[in-house]
Amino acid sequence: MPLVSMGPMLRRARADGYGIAAYNMIDFNSAKSIISGAAELSAPVIVQVSVKTVKHWGYAHVATWVRMLAEDAPVPVALHLDHCTDIDVIRRCIDAGWTSVMFDGSALPFAENLEKSSLVYGLTETAGVGLEAEIGAIGGVEDDKVVNDDQSRLADYDECLRFVAAMPNLAVFAPAIGTAHGFYKGEAKIAYDLLERITKAIDTPIALHGGTGLTDEQFTRCISLGCGKVNISTMHKRLFIDGFVGLKAERPKLEEPLPFLAAQHDAMKGDVMACIRTFGSAGRAAEAAHAA
Ligand SMILES: [Zn+2]
Repeated sequence: MPLVSMGPMLRRARADGYGIAAYNMIDFNSAKSIISGAAELSAPVIVQVSVKTVKHWGYAHVATWVRMLAEDAPVPVALHLDHCTDIDVIRRCIDAGWTSVMFDGSALPFAENLEKSSLVYGLTETAGVGLEAEIGAIGGVEDDKVVNDDQSRLADYDECLRFVAAMPNLAVFAPAIGTAHGFYKGEAKIAYDLLERITKAIDTPIALHGGTGLTDEQFTRCISLGCGKVNISTMHKRLFIDGFVGLKAERPKLEEPLPFLAAQHDAMKGDVMACIRTFGSAGRAAEAAHAA
């Protein structure tokens, strides 16, 4: 199918109580593993890319890979830009064919975050692509951004309402609710009460950042409370490396490269499929495509 925009399919997911997996791709093989895992389970999926990865490969290359893989797949695929603070990068992604972008103004004071997010909202609405925007401060390490424990900050409820009211067609809203990027040191402390208050007041689907390391119960509870988009990055990166070097450890004399790529692909795809099953989006491709 042609690439789709994530907003309508996320609204459908939230309304029907399931979550759509949003994986951070690394290269062509990784994008292929994400889309083939979704295709095998007839699930909608979001392929998202960090700013660092886009700059590494180039805008046109990333967009072309994902568009070609999506066109060959029988499931709806969205191409999304993850955490971005640079409006110029956002413009270039929109021009290159991304179907949604995230503007991350969470490091800014609320009024400035609202002002800049609203400006990007104007751009995305004009271009017909989706926008994800964040408030509060999600802890951990994402790309080059480090938010220490003492700097992480839950989203403020009243600010959430003002923020979303200013952007009624926001594709997905990312309030900080206690999850963190990277591997958790202990168990994640999710502010379910805050999440529930937010989702009782607004219909916009919520993005769950920092998905790696959450338990099935935590995923299920967050999804039932309105998290329509579930981000997985750290585990995918781990399997990208382990899938490759694991085979070398097993078969040190192997010199042919393609089996390494296959081992890497299969390790990543297995995790994609396990998450899709947990999030409840297996078999939802047709309804998501219809919504899109
Ligand atoms: Zn994130």
